[in-house]
Amino acid sequence: MVIIMLGAPGTGKGTVSGMLSNKLNIPQVSTGDIFRKHIKEQTELGKLAESYISKGKLVPDDVTVELVKNRLQDEDVQDGIILDGFPRTIKQAEALDEMLKNMDRKVSMTVNLTTPEDELVERVVNRRICPKCKAVYNLVLNPPEKENICNNCGHELVTRKDDNEETFKGRLNTYFEETKPLVNYYDKQNKLFSAVVSKSINKMGKDVTKDVLDYIKKNHID
Ligand SMILES: [Zn+2]
Repeated sequence: MVIIMLGAPGTGKGTVSGMLSNKLNIPQVSTGDIFRKHIKEQTELGKLAESYISKGKLVPDDVTVELVKNRLQDEDVQDGIILDGFPRTIKQAEALDEMLKNMDRKVSMTVNLTTPEDELVERVVNRRICPKCKAVYNLVLNPPEKENICNNCGHELVTRKDDNEETFKGRLNTYFEETKPLVNYYDKQNKLFSAVVSKSINKMGKDVTKDVLDYIKKNHID
């Protein structure tokens, strides 16, 4: 089973893929994890990726594709994988189809999480992090016990630099521009499952995960 996760920052994509990974017993793999591993081990591809990342540039498609191709050979993902952060472009999606075909595998489904934009903005501007132990809070959904103080270590909480409305809206726009063609790409192949994650309809990560699992069962996806 090959599942692709799509969802703007703040939709709870990480939470849902973590839950799916547990329930389906297949690893959740993000491009960030793959980059970090190769950079740590200083492989040829890792060094190449690092040369872009250290300059604040995006790792080019061909390097990312090679790294993912590499990861797909690993023993632990032969029964299934949940891909988070890949593909990002049509070119990457086509490369993924090609490499899976060569392995006699295919994309099983794409999970596209959506949340109303104002709710995403509200979630992100209310996010606070502990710079010491990295705990994450939300002033509305998950506030600390003492105002602005970390429950775990007592350190003062801070706002992440790019968690302000303006920067976040920019990130969202980039995401939508980038993802729209991908959503169409998988929709045309009947491989798109879209789910709304929103407090206004009382659908949060756990419920959405259940919907995805029901869909998998109903449609005999493997
Ligand atoms: Zn802390």
